[in-house]
Amino acid sequence: MIEAKKSLGQNFLKNKHYKEKIVDGAEVREGDTVVEIGPGMGALTEIMLSRGAKVTAIEIDRRLQEYLEENINSEDFSLIKNDFLKTDPKEYLNSDFTTKIIGNLPYHVTSEIIFKVMDIIKDDIETSQRIESFTIMIQKEVAHRLCSIHGNKVYGVITVLTDLFCTKKLLFDVPPDAFVPKPKVTSTVMRFDTIKNNENFKRLKSYKLFRTLVKTVFLNRRKMLRNTLKPFIDPEIITTIDITRRPESLDLNEFINLTNEVFELRGNE
Ligand code: SAM
Repeated sequence: MIEAKKSLGQNFLKNKHYKEKIVDGAEVREGDTVVEIGPGMGALTEIMLSRGAKVTAIEIDRRLQEYLEENINSEDFSLIKNDFLKTDPKEYLNSDFTTKIIGNLPYHVTSEIIFKVMDIIKDDIETSQRIESFTIMIQKEVAHRLCSIHGNKVYGVITVLTDLFCTKKLLFDVPPDAFVPKPKVTSTVMRFDTIKNNENFKRLKSYKLFRTLVKTVFLNRRKMLRNTLKPFIDPEIITTIDITRRPESLDLNEFINLTNEVFELRGNE
């Protein structure tokens, strides 16, 4: 047994029932191609391999890389020894296969990982639509934030950016005693399914502007758009949205309309 490093968000799943249930939730089947973020000691990896999936796992911790190399002997397994946040998706996305991404994510970089996966999905839908789903175990509060709707006080940047690419579903909770060491909080497993023929993405005039605008207006979620849109444009000339509204009241559609209008007004710079 390898001692868990808190700095790498290591809480290893020990409960067989939950390991199986997560793989069930991700709907991993024989012949599937899976990318696993943070395999640890292979809790989920082994189950997916036993079900006939091909797994490429990305692990940052050298001790765990060695453990996996010594303990997983399967032609269907490959290991990328790297920080997921620094990886180039070309290393693990194959244009011939649809891919399911899965991970019991380290809690200290959950949001960064989700943002990176959204960027990967964005590039993917512009090319070949290989990524089918993204199933993760994360802190319950973050899962609820991701699945919240506009108007809710936990609705935020990560909710809106993921709404653009995926439908999201909370699957089930996992209690602290399913892990070694026990985390202080309850975890939730949730699945993102990528939207096919994504009309919202197609009508968005600039993803880059959308991403920056959403992030900027949520920096001050209590402030009206009248104040927070100033870095982009004179807010008084906006017609699509009432500028006395606050960011948490806007749904995805309204953020797209707002981005498109700002993009047009700025003369497509
Ligand atoms: N999947 C295993 C399980 O369920 O028992 C381990 C889950 S543990 C919560 C998170 C794993 O992610 C650890 O193995 C940790 O070393 C790894 N990890 C942390 N940061 C990472 C990163 N930036 N890139 C890749 N793996 C990372």
